[in-house]
Amino acid sequence: MESKYWDPKIETMKLEELKKIQLKRLKEVIKRVYENNAVYHKLFKDAGLKPEEIKTLDDIKKVPFLTKDELRKYYPFGLVCVPMSEVVELHASSGTTGKPVVGTYTKYDLDVWSEVMARIMYTAGVRKEDRYQNSFGYGLFTGAHGFEKGAQKIGALVVPMSSGNTLRQLQLMKDFETTAIGCTPSYLAYMAEAAEKKGYDIEKDFKLKVGMCGAESWSDEMRKKIEDKWGISAFDNYGLTEIIGPGVSVECEEHDGLHINTDHFYVEIIDPKTGEVLEPGEKGELVFTTLTKEAFPSIRFRTKDLSILIEEECDCGRTLPRHVRILGRSDDMMKVRGVIVFPKQIEEAIMKIEGTSENYQIVKYKSGVMTRLKVRVEPEPVFKGDKNLLAKKIQQEIYGILNLTVDVDVVNIGDIPRSTGKAKRVVEE
Ligand SMILES: [Zn+2]
Repeated sequence: MESKYWDPKIETMKLEELKKIQLKRLKEVIKRVYENNAVYHKLFKDAGLKPEEIKTLDDIKKVPFLTKDELRKYYPFGLVCVPMSEVVELHASSGTTGKPVVGTYTKYDLDVWSEVMARIMYTAGVRKEDRYQNSFGYGLFTGAHGFEKGAQKIGALVVPMSSGNTLRQLQLMKDFETTAIGCTPSYLAYMAEAAEKKGYDIEKDFKLKVGMCGAESWSDEMRKKIEDKWGISAFDNYGLTEIIGPGVSVECEEHDGLHINTDHFYVEIIDPKTGEVLEPGEKGELVFTTLTKEAFPSIRFRTKDLSILIEEECDCGRTLPRHVRILGRSDDMMKVRGVIVFPKQIEEAIMKIEGTSENYQIVKYKSGVMTRLKVRVEPEPVFKGDKNLLAKKIQQEIYGILNLTVDVDVVNIGDIPRSTGKAKRVVEE
């Protein structure tokens, strides 16, 4: 019988055994970066740390954190730990808020990446028989390339579609009988809308079963909308250029947190204010250490993403620790009249109300010196009720979650710009 797990040994290994592997690899990577990279060497030296002082996993607390600012400071290749001639591929983030982060890979790094990608896609149900439409944007971004490597490692058929050109996506999805797709959740929702508009019968015309969604924050309510529209299971996954790209963690069929590939990525949760390491169950910032990467090891990288660690075994049988879905990026955090607001909380409120679509926008504006929020929402195409009443209900739901009154406008269908990649949910006016 086909195994439920891509790598049964690692995925169901006892935590104590896994920790032995982690410790061995941690010692190796700390020694490697100290000996081969001037920046890390100086960072460790300034912290008074010698590699041989790492004797237990707990000793990682002696290692200084790495921040996004530092990565920018050593742009582009300052943290590369191998001769550049060993580097065979690179990727970069968009760099919208400064210089991009450049990820470099040796041949071995690409093997690791393919392996962790295969593992996360297999966990979501992608198999050799599947036809996988890769609708993440190709280019410098990690997304499309990681998923392509993973799908091919499983042996699935890859359709390297990239993002955009939506009607062609749908035509080929039908013709090729695509069974799995990867893209941002907002784009998958938009594709369903475009399919309906074009007159497709989603149930009859398409064979889609699995959606690998990621690269943006999305709520469980949004997931439900996508799953209902397409008749699929949609799986959240997590990763970032600073660590490897996608491949860090993924949901299993239980949809109760994301399993972290902790044999390759050591995870900690810290208090974002003090840097103190927190226990499983406590909410804080995710920090990762790449245990096996050669070209660009990240040591205690602060992600700014808020989550909670779960160490208990999952009902799926996997022992790999989990983190809950990202609660919010500290970069996305807004402070409105003293209240901390994450866009995802507003999305959750909107989608709890019947009659709303997945098309919405949060407008940030200044009234005097105060920052205020306004929300624009499109109704479902079938919505026939009173728009003002719908707006009122959304406003009450947001108040219920945030204890904050936000103006809500129910706008006409088509008023909110659609996105084929990462949706721009928050705009400033
Ligand atoms: Zn599980």
